[in-house]
Amino acid sequence: MQDFGLEIWGDKNFIINGGEVLVNYGEKPSLIDITKMVRDRGYRGPILLRFPHLIEKQISTLFNDFDSAINEFEYRGSFYAVFPLKVNQFPNFINPLINISKKYNYGLEAGSKAELIIAISLTPVGSPITVNGFKDKEMISLCFIASKMGHFITVIIEGLDELETIIKVSKEFNKDTKNFISPEIGMRIRLHSVGVGIWAKSGGYSSKFGLTSTELLEAYDLLENNNILNLFSMIHFHIGSQMSEISALKKALREAGNIYAELKKRGAESLNSINIGGGLAVEYAQHNNARERNYSLKEFANDVIYLMQEISKNKGVSQPNIFTESGRYISASHSVLVAPVLELFSQEYHEKSLRLKEVNPPLVQELYELFDSISKSNAREYLHDGLDHLESLLTLFDLGYIDLEDRSNAEILVALIIKKSIVLLKDESTDELKRLQNSIKEKYLVNFSIFQSLPDFWGLSQKFPIMPLNKLDIKPTRPATLWDITCDSDGEIEFNPELPLYLHDIDVTEEEYFLGFFLTGAYQEVLGMKHNLFTHPTEVIINFDKNGKFKLDNLIEAQNLIDVLDELEYDTNKIKKLLKHKIERSKIINNDEKSEILGKLYLYLSENSYLKTIQSLKDNL
Ligand SMILES: *Cc1c(COP(=O)(O)O)cnc(C)c1O
Repeated sequence: MQDFGLEIWGDKNFIINGGEVLVNYGEKPSLIDITKMVRDRGYRGPILLRFPHLIEKQISTLFNDFDSAINEFEYRGSFYAVFPLKVNQFPNFINPLINISKKYNYGLEAGSKAELIIAISLTPVGSPITVNGFKDKEMISLCFIASKMGHFITVIIEGLDELETIIKVSKEFNKDTKNFISPEIGMRIRLHSVGVGIWAKSGGYSSKFGLTSTELLEAYDLLENNNILNLFSMIHFHIGSQMSEISALKKALREAGNIYAELKKRGAESLNSINIGGGLAVEYAQHNNARERNYSLKEFANDVIYLMQEISKNKGVSQPNIFTESGRYISASHSVLVAPVLELFSQEYHEKSLRLKEVNPPLVQELYELFDSISKSNAREYLHDGLDHLESLLTLFDLGYIDLEDRSNAEILVALIIKKSIVLLKDESTDELKRLQNSIKEKYLVNFSIFQSLPDFWGLSQKFPIMPLNKLDIKPTRPATLWDITCDSDGEIEFNPELPLYLHDIDVTEEEYFLGFFLTGAYQEVLGMKHNLFTHPTEVIINFDKNGKFKLDNLIEAQNLIDVLDELEYDTNKIKKLLKHKIERSKIINNDEKSEILGKLYLYLSENSYLKTIQSLKDNL
C-alpha cells in the first residue's frame, strides 16, 4: 500500500484504513468525512483543520521526556517551557494551547509588543513568560506592568542599552513602593558555535542577537554597580530553527554551560537558569532519503540534562533550571490544510476526447491499434513504436500533411499508451520509464494559495507532506505537479523525480478529490501572504469528548472580499457606492434587472476569494 511516507512523518497521528486517512484518536474519524461535514455547511475552498489533541500530545511529550531525563540523571534543576508566539499567534491555536498548558505550567514567549500583550493577558499568573527581541522603553515598561500583575516574567536582553533602559524604568516603577518589583533579567549570549540547516542564522558570531563575552562582563558590572545583580537569573541562546543535527546543540550547550558556570563563579548568585531557545526539528520528509533530523526528543532531552549536569559538577556550581522555547515542535503537527483538486490538465488525454475519422492517416490508425492491443508482454515494444509514430506524425503536421484533428488524436493515443504501459510495467523501475513518467506528469490545479498556506515552500523550498485523503487502496500512478490558483508561476509545487509525488488519475467531473497538506501548524499561518488577495483559509477546530466523539468548533470563514479591501484601507463604502452607481447608470442593464444584479453583486462581496465552481464540474467544488 502506498502510504505517502506516513511512517516517516506521521508520528502515528494519522492512519490509513479502508483507503482513507483517519485521525488516529477517539472514534478515528476520516479526514474526508470531517471535510465533507464542513462543506455540507456551505463552505468551499481550502479548509484548515486544527487538532488540539495533537498540541497536547506534543506538550506532554516534551515535559515527559525532560522529566524522565531529570529523574534518570538525578538532576537538581527543574524544567520549564514556553511557547514562542511568533510560531503561531492565531487564537484558534493559542486558546486551546492555553487550556492544555495549565496542567503543565507551560507559558508563553513574546518577541514584540503585540505578542507581549497576548502573553501577559493569556498566561496564567505563575506560569513563565520570557521576552526576547529588541526592546524599547515602552516594551520594558510592559514587562514591569506584568510583574506588578504577579507574573513570573524574564526579560532577556539583547544588548547593553536594553539593560540601561531596564535600570531607568525600574527607578520609575519603584519610586513609591516599599515592595521592589521587577521582572527577572536574562542575557542572550552570542555563541561561537553555529547551528546547521537553512534557518541557522540565529546562532554564531555574525548572528543578529546576543552579547559577546566582553559585553557580558560589562553587563555584569552594570548590574552589580546598580545593585540589581540579584535580578539576573537566566542566560539564553537560540541556535536557529529546525536544527537537523544534534551535534550543533551539544556544542552550543557546552559553550553556554561554561558561560553559566563562569558567571556563577564570578558571583552571580541568583543566576539559576539556562534557556536553550527553540530549534527542535520536525520530520517533514515523505521519503527516506530526505530525512530532516538525526535525533529524537528523548536523545535531545538526555543530552541537555547530561551536559548541564557534567559542566556544573566539574565547575562546582549548582545545576541550572532548563527553559526551552521550542515552537515548531509543539505546533507543526496540529493542523492539516485540506484543499480540493479543481482540474487535471491532461484530462483531455482521455479516450472520450478522440475524434477518430472514418478513414484516418495510417500512422494514427496504427497508434489506435497499439493502444487497443497493448499488454504486459508487448508493452515496452508498443511504447517505443508509439513514441516513434508520434514523432513522425508531428513532422507530417508541420509539413501540412495531416490536420489538427489527426494531431490531437495522435497526442491523445500516445498519452494513453504511455499511461497504460506505466501501469503494465510498474514492477520494472527503469530509467526510461521514469523519464517517460516525467514527460507525462500531470498538473493538478488545487484550490488554495501556496503564498498564503505554504509560504516556507515558496521562500525556503521547505517540503511539506502531501497526500490524497482517499483512494489510498489504489496505487497512484500519475507523477504530480501541483498548481495553486494564484496568477503567479511561482505558485507551483513541481514534480521532483528525486522525491516523487504520485497522485491518482481521477475525473473531477465524476468525483471529488482532496489533498491534505500536513505539518502546516508552525510559522505558515502568520507568514502567509495575501498574494492576489487570497486570504487565510476557512478554519475549524476538531475537538474530541471523553467518549472519543468528535465535534467541530470555532469555525471561522475565510475573510470576505469587502473585508479584504477594507484591510488594505480602501474606502469600502465608496467602493460599494461606485458599484451601485455603475449599475444604476448602466444603459445596458434593463431597469427591472438592476436590483437583482445589485443583490447578486452584494452577495459576492460577502464571500471569500477562493473558487467555488468550475464550469466543467457537476458538483460545486
Ligand atoms: C524563533 C524562536 C524560537 C522558536 O524556534 P523553533 O525552531 O520554532 O522551536 C525560540 N526562541 C527564540 C528566541 C526564537 O527566536
